[in-house]
This record gives sequence, structure tokens and C-alpha cells, in this order.
Amino acid sequence: MTKKGEMLYAWTNDAEIQKKAELGGAVTALWKYALDSKIVDAVLAVTKGVDLYDAKPVIITDSKDLARTAGSLHCGTLLLPKLVKKYLDGAQDKKIGVTVKGCDMMGFYELAKRKQINLDNIIMIGVNCGGSVSPVIARKMIAEKYGVDPEKVHKEEIDKGQFIIEYEGGHKGISVDELEEAGYGRRSNCRRCKLKIPRQADLACGNWGVIGDKAGKATFVEVCSEKGANLMTGAIKQGILETAPANPKGLEIRAKVEGAMLKLGDKWRKHDFEALGEGKDRLKKIMAETARCIKCYGCIDVCPICYCVECTTKNPSMVPPGELPVSFMFHLIRYAHIADSCVNCGQCEEVCPAEIPNALFMHAQQVELEKMFGHVPGVNMELPLLAFAEERTERDRLHNTGSDMIFENVFKPLGKK
Ligand code: FAD
Ligand code: SF4
Ligand code: SF4
Ligand code: SF4
Ligand code: SF4
Repeated sequence: MTKKGEMLYAWTNDAEIQKKAELGGAVTALWKYALDSKIVDAVLAVTKGVDLYDAKPVIITDSKDLARTAGSLHCGTLLLPKLVKKYLDGAQDKKIGVTVKGCDMMGFYELAKRKQINLDNIIMIGVNCGGSVSPVIARKMIAEKYGVDPEKVHKEEIDKGQFIIEYEGGHKGISVDELEEAGYGRRSNCRRCKLKIPRQADLACGNWGVIGDKAGKATFVEVCSEKGANLMTGAIKQGILETAPANPKGLEIRAKVEGAMLKLGDKWRKHDFEALGEGKDRLKKIMAETARCIKCYGCIDVCPICYCVECTTKNPSMVPPGELPVSFMFHLIRYAHIADSCVNCGQCEEVCPAEIPNALFMHAQQVELEKMFGHVPGVNMELPLLAFAEERTERDRLHNTGSDMIFENVFKPLGKK
């Protein structure tokens, strides 16, 4: 029986899954078991679209279709939790299994806090994540740095600090550090990300720490919850999953790599936040950059923290409609509502047609608020400061009384009467 806290190497003996899988296929095999034994009604995973720069989400209800979701897409910059809220009724009455990167997992917690997702009905298999590369940058980087036609690339992977491509006629790897110094590489939010092993998911799976004859053929699984332990136990019993205790040397290596990644995250935070300046200088910079905004609402649509039916940015008395440049109030509203909970997923930057570094601005503020109030977003169900004012109740009260008492509600938990 697998127990919470165990560290294992795991792989599947299902030949079809193994062929397509990234590192032994444990993740896909676990989903196969979960679907076949009706532990979940559906699995939300990621599959290759038109090419490997096109990662698309897919809902699988028949385990025969799972093999196409195996493999890691490092140009897959999508985020899954809001899709569960929008298209799967927040998992209110269906059990959903989801493969999550750290940012996906954090998005789930944030939406669950806001009662937009029923976490009881969600099983999360987490994958360690060193970072993802924006599809546009990936194509440019492969053409300019690798001298290879991006259309000819049929596989990419990140291994031992290198971004490696396989293409018609060969393969080539360049160190991620070198790529990033030249302005390519991982997304800027990924460089600052410090959620490398998603231990708040039910299982955390990855290649860090897999050594010896299992290297490249198995996944390191950290069992993070009872749900995760039961899933492992069932899949092993069914015979689709094989495991071995993790090599103690592998454990050490995994801890070292994680430590190094966290340090790198700190380095990038320092780099990016210092470049923003402080106080009024920072404000001026943010105002200058956001002046390009065309108010397409893309950042709000994708943000896992934004869920309101009536968005304040659409209130004409707050943000005058039909005006360009857009009133800075549009961005101030977002900062005020989200900065305490931003999970640095990068989505608002990824979709912005004006190429405004939205995630950087929000993340810089989140880190300051974390220092002040100690609230860490995305890692548990602890409520952020602003969640103490419930949106619908607050609006109804405002409408009925005309009195803006929101601050009293917010500060009550801090001991104010
Ligand atoms: P498989 O059976 O091949 O299943 C892979 C699962 O990942 C599938 O469910 C698939 O849908 C899902 N998936 C693929 N791409 C994405 C995506 N972009 N977003 C969300 N889900 C996706 N491990 C490390 O130890 N260190 C790392 O630095 C590291 N970086 C990673 C970066 C990314 C973007 C991804 C997706 C994974 C990363 N991993 C990393 C995890 C590792 O690559 C394997 O996913 C893991 O070991 C499981 O292998 P497997 O053979 O059991 O998975
Ligand atoms: Fe991975 Fe973190 Fe980037 Fe998400 S934000 S893709 S978890 S590195
Ligand atoms: Fe403005 Fe960019 Fe947000 Fe669109 S995505 S509303 S352009 S900041
Ligand atoms: Fe993600 Fe941007 Fe929302 Fe932060 S503000 S959670 S980076 S979409
Ligand atoms: Fe996001 Fe605030 Fe709009 Fe709600 S009101 S959707 S939190 S910007």
C-alpha cells in the first residue's frame, strides 16, 4: 500500500502509453486507472495541436483516448483551472482529474477559495516544472539561435539545463542560461517562479532525482495526499503501474536541483523587480507601459483570480468607456483586486496584444504584499485579505445602502471593530 509522504520511481507497462510518454508514462497510466475504475468522470490534460508549439487542452472520458495526452509540451503555456470553472461547472458535480504545473495548481486553490471550483471533486497530478517557453519565442529562438527551421522540429525537451530539439537531420541542445542571456528561453514569469515541485497537488511527478538504470524511463513520484496515495495503490494493484523505492542518492540530487532552481528564481526576481525601480519611479514606469492598453479585457478573461460576473473595470463611472488611452483606473482596479493573490502564471502577459508586461507588474506588487501581510497565494485555502469582503453581498449592500463600507469588512479580520 502506498502512503502519503512516500518517494517512488514509477513507470507503466502499457506499451502504447510508454511509447508516447515523457518519462515512463506513470502520469498517463494513473489517469487510465482513474478513468477505468470510475474514480474520475473525466481527465483534463494537454495534447499536441497542429504542431509542438500548439499545446491544447483536451477532455478525455474514454481511457482509450489517453495515450495522445502523454508527453510534456514545454511550449504549452496554457492554464487549466479557469477552464474547469468556465466549461466544467467548476467540478460541482463531476469528478475531474487534471495534470497540473505549479501555476495550474495555484490557480485551482485561488478559484476554490472564491467558491468557483469544488476541490473535493478534483484530483491533481502535479508535474515538476522548470519553466515553459512562449510559442512565439520558441519559433524565433529555434530559427535564430539553433539555425533550424522551426517547422522541421518534431521534438523538444528541457534536460540537464539545456533546451534540446530534435529535427529532420539531427538534434541540438543549448543551455537555458545562454538562451536567456540572449533574450530567449523561458517566459519571464517562469524565470521568477518558485513553485517547482507542486506538493500541494495529490502527487508531484518529475524527472529530477531519477538516476541509475531508471533514468529517462521512470518518473519520480512524491505522494502528497491520501487521494494521491489511494490512486497509486489502486493503479499498482490493477497492474498498470510499477514502482520501486527512490534511490537515496536520487533524493539528494532532487533536493539539490530544487534548491538551485529556487535560487535562480530569486535571482530573476531581484533582476526583474530592481529594473522596475521603486516608489514613484516604479509607478511612472507602470503608467507609461500600460498606456498602450487597448482595453481588450484579455488579461481579465485569462486571469485565474478574475471571476466576477460584473467586472468593476466595465463600470463607466470607474473607467470611462470609448477612450484611448485607457484610464489608468482600469489597471489600478486590477492591481487592487488581484495583487494579494496573483500566482504569477503569466497568462495576462501572454495574451496581451499590446505586449504589456502585466504579470511582472502584478507579481512585483504581490511579493511586496506578501512581505507585509504574510499571505502566500495558491498553496492552501487560506483566504487573502480582500476575500473577507464577499463580492455579491458587498454589491447588494452597496446598492441598498449607497454606503461604501467595504473597508470595514476588509479590516474586521485584523481586529478593527
Ligand atoms: P506522461 O505519462 O508523459 O504524461 C504527461 C502529462 O503531462 C500528461 O497528462 C500531459 O497532458 C501533461 N502535460 C504535457 N504538457 C503539459 C503542459 N504544458 N501543461 C500541463 N500539462 C502538460 N520534471 C522535472 O523533474 N523537472 C522539470 O524541470 C520539469 N519541467 C517540466 C516542464 C513542463 C512544461 C512539463 C509539462 C513537465 C515538466 N516536468 C519536469 C515533468 C516531466 O516532464 C514529466 O511530465 C513527468 O516526469 C511525468 O512523466 P510521465 O512519463 O509520467 O508523464
Ligand atoms: Fe512552470 Fe512556474 Fe512557469 Fe507555471 S509559472 S509554467 S509552474 S515555471
Ligand atoms: Fe490592456 Fe493588454 Fe489587458 Fe488587453 S490584455 S486589456 S491590452 S493590458
Ligand atoms: Fe496570472 Fe496575471 Fe492573474 Fe497574476 S494577474 S494570476 S500573472 S493572469
Ligand atoms: Fe477581476 Fe476585479 Fe474585474 Fe473581478 S472586478 S473580474 S477581480 S478586475
